[in-house]
Amino acid sequence: MTRHHPDQIRAFISQTCQSLGSQQTEAELVANNLVEANLAGHDSHGVGMLPTYVDGVVNGRLKINVGPAVVVDRGPLVTLDGQAGFGQVNGFETMKIGIERARNHGVAIVGLRNSYHIGRIGHWAEQCAAAGFASLHLVNVIGHPPIVAAYGGADARFGTNPFCAAVPGRDGRPGFLLDMATSIIAAGKARVAANKGEKVPPNTIIDADGNLTDDPNELWYTAQSADRGGALVAFGDHKGSGLAIMCELLAAALLGGETSHPDTPRDGRVINNMLSFIIDPDAVGEAETFLGEIERFREYLLESRLRADCDELLVPGQPEQRARSDRATGFEIDAVTLKQLKACAIRAGMAEADVEDLLDA
Ligand code: NAD
Repeated sequence: MTRHHPDQIRAFISQTCQSLGSQQTEAELVANNLVEANLAGHDSHGVGMLPTYVDGVVNGRLKINVGPAVVVDRGPLVTLDGQAGFGQVNGFETMKIGIERARNHGVAIVGLRNSYHIGRIGHWAEQCAAAGFASLHLVNVIGHPPIVAAYGGADARFGTNPFCAAVPGRDGRPGFLLDMATSIIAAGKARVAANKGEKVPPNTIIDADGNLTDDPNELWYTAQSADRGGALVAFGDHKGSGLAIMCELLAAALLGGETSHPDTPRDGRVINNMLSFIIDPDAVGEAETFLGEIERFREYLLESRLRADCDELLVPGQPEQRARSDRATGFEIDAVTLKQLKACAIRAGMAEADVEDLLDA
């Protein structure tokens, strides 16, 4: 493990993206989004995603310097096509448009289809919360072979289809932020565990023979095909599996995006489709009352007696707040990830000596 300052990793990502040909604004949006995920404690969606992006650009699957194109524009209702461009640009621009429409109409429903990976979904809810708005986001993931099995099945049939909802707080950060994969663990967490040589929690992965396991390698090294490989288990049995299925249909099918089936291209792309609802609290009630109720409810929850087998109670978004204060001056990167980062920067066109300088711990 080596420890790195957030600014150092931001500069490294930005330089790598610019070496690929990204304009500075794009490179900085990517860098900021990935580092914010590390700071929020989600290494699975942080700088470790960079090699996948470099591979996407080099192989022509991820397009640089394209923004989202408007497909539907009906006041509070906007659909955009991300044109397989960087999700960090598409997500940012889509939320910017949604926030502006919610300001004008009280509510906005914005769809983003066909974007390359949009990273940690909470990042987009945070952009809405910073504007004082509540938001809800349904997302599907497409391109790789599917990775999550429907409840009862052993074959992977869809992605980790995240669900996210947030309400604003008084400090520009969400008061509550629920941001989760609909699989028990996110796919990136299995990658991080495999890189570190660690196990994942019990019964979160189904191996190729249909048995539950805690070995992340069963997912990563056998998942060559959706019908004969490892799969992640959806959270909450039939309920989580059902929510993932609704994410697939509402985030993708409804917007003209791709759902997962045998005809879907499986060329290693990581495409996200996202349906977002953005609500101005002052348009549907009173923002001040809403903020007061959020705070009072939070206090009430935190005053709970603890369950006998638990040593604390946290509210959604609290683990990320904690991670942010713990990691503000730096976070650790494991040796396997660091090696992958160096290799991908060289692949993007950077000189080896510059890469070593930029990543010097
Ligand atoms: P997680 O399980 O770490 O957290 C899920 C939610 O539960 C968070 O809102 C968190 O604040 C809350 N939480 C965690 N521990 C808690 C506790 N002890 N008490 C109360 N609340 C708690 O998250 P995850 O499901 O592993 O997802 C990780 C990230 O992966 C998310 O940011 C998600 O958006 C992202 N993701 C992205 C994609 C994509 O395709 N772009 C796909 C899947 C997941």
